[in-house]
Amino acid sequence: MPTMSAPTQFDAVLAKLQARMPTLWLNDRLGQPLPATAPSTASISGAEARMARCAPLLVELFPELSDTDGHIESALMPADNLKAALSCDSTAGAGVWFIKRDDALPVAGSIKARGGFHEVLAVAEEIALTRGLILPDDDRRRLNTPEVRAVFAQYTVAVGSTGNLGLSIGVMAAALGFDAVVHMSADAKAWKKERLRKRGVRVVEHAGDYAKAVAGGRAQALALPHSHFVDDERSDLLFFGYAASARYLAAQLKDAGRQVDAQHPLFVYLPCGVGGAPGGITYGLKALFGEHVHCFFAEPVASPCMLVQLASHSDTPISVYDIGLDNKTDADGLAVGEASHLVAPLMASQLSGVFTVSDTELFLNLRALKASLGVWVEPSAAAGIPGPRWLSDSAQGRAYVERHALDMRQATHVIWSTGGSLVPPEEHRAFHDRADELARRGEAALQIS
Ligand SMILES: *Cc1c(COP(=O)(O)O)cnc(C)c1O
Repeated sequence: MPTMSAPTQFDAVLAKLQARMPTLWLNDRLGQPLPATAPSTASISGAEARMARCAPLLVELFPELSDTDGHIESALMPADNLKAALSCDSTAGAGVWFIKRDDALPVAGSIKARGGFHEVLAVAEEIALTRGLILPDDDRRRLNTPEVRAVFAQYTVAVGSTGNLGLSIGVMAAALGFDAVVHMSADAKAWKKERLRKRGVRVVEHAGDYAKAVAGGRAQALALPHSHFVDDERSDLLFFGYAASARYLAAQLKDAGRQVDAQHPLFVYLPCGVGGAPGGITYGLKALFGEHVHCFFAEPVASPCMLVQLASHSDTPISVYDIGLDNKTDADGLAVGEASHLVAPLMASQLSGVFTVSDTELFLNLRALKASLGVWVEPSAAAGIPGPRWLSDSAQGRAYVERHALDMRQATHVIWSTGGSLVPPEEHRAFHDRADELARRGEAALQIS
């Protein structure tokens, strides 16, 4: 384990993590200043503007986007039925609950559409501008003309991903005419490979050590003059694509009649893998709502990489393997051993805390979501559901509410659902069979301690 000046608080949380006991960790550095190198809010508005000017282009590329005029957005769904299904008769029931439906984001079917599409569009614009194919103020539909596509065909856009990031990058890159390459492990889901190949993406399968293979693919792509590698661990283009979601959520909350201010706190619960998606969203929301928004990440008990990184106060990377965990979870979108080095330092002063979830909880909550609201999600997407109850039913949660003098009767809870609409029905069936079996055995969904 790297040397560090760990706060004593770390020892206590470490023991719980090593016992794989679901826990809520509160960030003791919340509210401290951001690092001097933190990106400005101009970068967020830059991403918002890019997605807006590319919307007409997206309608041309993906007919299914004509309903939303090319905007990649998701519904904010009232979730009172879920609250009732989880029998939240405690103070968690006092606020209003919503599910943010990124599980149904168009084209890519997961939260990765936000960051991934933004990065590929930024790369396309950059190439077209530097090669003099478009002018800065041109209609971006010009990127979809034969001359420009012929140029894009000379470029490779590559990514290493077994899951949703590969789908998002691969589909958008191929639609623009790039040579799109997704490096996957040989054991990646067959439906994902097939879906990508159908869209014209080259899927490169790697046997053996997947991480090494991806590193190889990355080195290869970076060495080529005409290629761009999407790096999930350190991409600011992904990050700003996620951050751009905040303004739309703010408008949705307003439309729903939900205020956000000192008397009306907003809680947001975000499933966390490497940290890019939930970190970007947190960054965007903090820029809009400051101390009135309280963002919590949810991580599997086997993969609490952001929790470990932040709780250790370490400046050097620390992984879940370093503390003896195996990173094995059915939440494949969250199975990440080491947090993003770009995102962790930004979250050190912005994130309210992190709670961990067992796989049993994921399956039972995915089942509750289906039963109460008819929403089918993948296991990763159910990770945020225990959030409101951690706040109301645990000693740490109540301490947080007290410390910040929050009126929970006026609270709005947004549980971010992150993926699932492209998952084939037989996979969903398998998730629910597993959940039914756990319920039959009388497993409890919430294990607050
Ligand atoms: C990738 C992913 C996440 C988390 O995003 P990170 O940027 O890896 O933290 C959450 N849910 C799903 C379904 C995902 O695919």
